[in-house]
Amino acid sequence: MTLAQAIENKYHRGIAECSNEEIYYCLLEMTKKMAEDKISNDGKKKLYYISAEFLIGKLLSNNLINLGIYEDIKKELADNGKAIGDIEEIELEPSLGNGGLGRLAACFMDSVATLGLNGDGVGLNYHYGLFKQVFDHNLQKETPNPWITDESWLTKSDISYTVQFGGFNVQSRLYDIDVVGYNNRTNRLRLFDIESVDESIVGDTIDFDKDQIAKNLTLFLYPDDSDEKGRLLRVYQQYFMVSNAARLVLDECVAKGSNLHDLADYAAIQINDTHPSMVIPELIRLLQERGIVMDEAIEIVSKVCAYTNHTILAEALEKWPIYFLEKAVPQLMPIIRELDNRVRQKVSDESTYIIKDGLVHMAHMDIHYGYSVNGVAYLHTEILKNTELNNFYKLYPERFNNKTNGITFRRWLMACNPELSAMITDLIGDGWKKDANELEKLANFMDDDAVLDRLLAVKSGKKADLKNYLKATQGMDIDDNSIYDIQIKRLHEYKRQQMNALYIIHKYFEIKEGKKPARPITLFFGAKAAPAYVIAKDIIHLILCLQQIINNDPEVSPYLKVFMVENYNVTLAEKLIPACDISEQISLASKEASGTGNMKFMLNGALTLGTMDGANVEIAELVGEDNIYTFGESSETVIARYERGDYCSKDYYEKDAALKKAVDFIVSDQVMAVGCRENLERLYNELLNKDWFMTFPDFESYVATKERAYADYEDRKTWAKKVLLNISKAGFFSSDRTIAQYNDEIWKLN
Ligand SMILES: *Cc1c(COP(=O)(O)O)cnc(C)c1O
Repeated sequence: MTLAQAIENKYHRGIAECSNEEIYYCLLEMTKKMAEDKISNDGKKKLYYISAEFLIGKLLSNNLINLGIYEDIKKELADNGKAIGDIEEIELEPSLGNGGLGRLAACFMDSVATLGLNGDGVGLNYHYGLFKQVFDHNLQKETPNPWITDESWLTKSDISYTVQFGGFNVQSRLYDIDVVGYNNRTNRLRLFDIESVDESIVGDTIDFDKDQIAKNLTLFLYPDDSDEKGRLLRVYQQYFMVSNAARLVLDECVAKGSNLHDLADYAAIQINDTHPSMVIPELIRLLQERGIVMDEAIEIVSKVCAYTNHTILAEALEKWPIYFLEKAVPQLMPIIRELDNRVRQKVSDESTYIIKDGLVHMAHMDIHYGYSVNGVAYLHTEILKNTELNNFYKLYPERFNNKTNGITFRRWLMACNPELSAMITDLIGDGWKKDANELEKLANFMDDDAVLDRLLAVKSGKKADLKNYLKATQGMDIDDNSIYDIQIKRLHEYKRQQMNALYIIHKYFEIKEGKKPARPITLFFGAKAAPAYVIAKDIIHLILCLQQIINNDPEVSPYLKVFMVENYNVTLAEKLIPACDISEQISLASKEASGTGNMKFMLNGALTLGTMDGANVEIAELVGEDNIYTFGESSETVIARYERGDYCSKDYYEKDAALKKAVDFIVSDQVMAVGCRENLERLYNELLNKDWFMTFPDFESYVATKERAYADYEDRKTWAKKVLLNISKAGFFSSDRTIAQYNDEIWKLN
């Protein structure tokens, strides 16, 4: 059916006579029907990817591309005076995730469907997501982020379960979102909600009554965990997610012919970080309810569940107090105690026990009772094996494996950068869309001036697009002749936005002193800080103060500007990444597990400025040192310094005059005039007295390397060659490759 026919059926009018909203809702309906026709349950064994987050982004364009009708629809719209870009604007971005982990889950679901594998994502249907970020007096404020409209990508199912908590029950309801593979089958995201959810308990802020579990359970993703009630609510959410997931798995497998003893032939469960870890005891409990004895139930579950570790940051490895679990999910504690006892009987190393000092260590349960443990980049997995989880590695070396993350090229190239996609297809054909390694063929054009010029022209076009978009949506005035230097990612001290901010101050002083850059520089930031993460919010405050000071300084702003976009999300990422020249990936070495932003930028023709951390290590290996800007201390140096515990940031501050000057500026009268004393002094003291993520030792080499990159930018032809080489090597980072490895080595779906 053409769009015109669908519009005629729905509204009895022509396309040109419809509002953009009417067209959007018609396309939504049409796309959902086409997607549903491709749902299939082929394959005996099925993957259940359980994740507390799926940061899927807007779905319209992506689904049209994957269904193969994007170009036709675009043309039909254009013929009727409508721009597909304007229709896309109608859709609200689903707020079902917060950062890299949730975006990874979304890319993985796209690739599972695109590879034709039978696999669904299972999670929660948050009504207000994480939060919507607004800036007010240079501070981050949080407001609810509603996204569910009367007609949406959600389809209500007739599946519902009663979930038992300590002292009360709730009734669940399953909603599905289709996951359309590229020229392939449709799988689904299975999102559980509560029937009794009550949006009216939320006002203009993200504060709400945390005691009313039966009303609030699915309102927000990771509600503020700065207090005990917030943390307890997470336990309720997690159990609700996995209890529903476990029953869905058992029901579907039984329907397919499983007798439950053979569950591992029918299901693979991937536990995405520790949020879904309670699925292990819950499945054991449910199998016992269905007549299977404990010994065998444990054995079955241990053949079904596999665990992905995403971080070595201690605060992220969840440990729940026993009394939380006794209160929220008392039925699980006897099982968790039994699992712990069995570990105690066979293992002497106490550091691996599940229950210690009144806390339940979720990752420990996953490793003892799962059949696979994977890290998400080569370096990360090595650190897990040799340092963080070494005690476990010694027990189960065969369980540890690496799966370097990836991204879907459908969203992160075809959809967000059609101009570059078209250029690539003109040069090497469109085989790369299904086999990303074909991008290697671009290497044949390294000395072709016409190709290099076209590459630069595509980039200029995307820079102009971004300028226009940010002017229209956020009122920003960007110079598109400047270098676009971009750092977009969650705000965390280890990601070191503070180092980039210190560079900005340093550059500001240089320009004031008359040392002007060869070309204007624009530094972009996009980042949300967790509502209770005080220092992260202080860093946002500093950047916003710098933005105000620098952009309004007539001496400096012709050469240097700073823009922090409000409410960074997938939609903004899709606009920013294609326009980027320099991709900031400057985490403290050893702390960034992988990163996936780094891969998106590389694929879109930005050069990486980064530390040898996460997947940056693999990017550097692929492109060679001439085609990436790396700097800073190695992960070994950093890990050794943490072990010695002798880091003193003041030593660096005293020794390095440029660093001292930049740090002191944070509490200068000039910044105080536009900022808040409390926030700025707190950040200053944190850096000077702690600097837990070791910004200062890397500052000098960061500045030098960034200057080298800016200087290199002026040789446009050599720069274009480096860009082309980066794109040609990006195929490894397709999530199709990652998922093929998960399937070959972990899930073994047939
Ligand atoms: C890719 C992505 C991330 C992850 O970025 P990193 O730089 O890897 O931390 C976070 N948020 C959004 C919206 C993304 O698209």
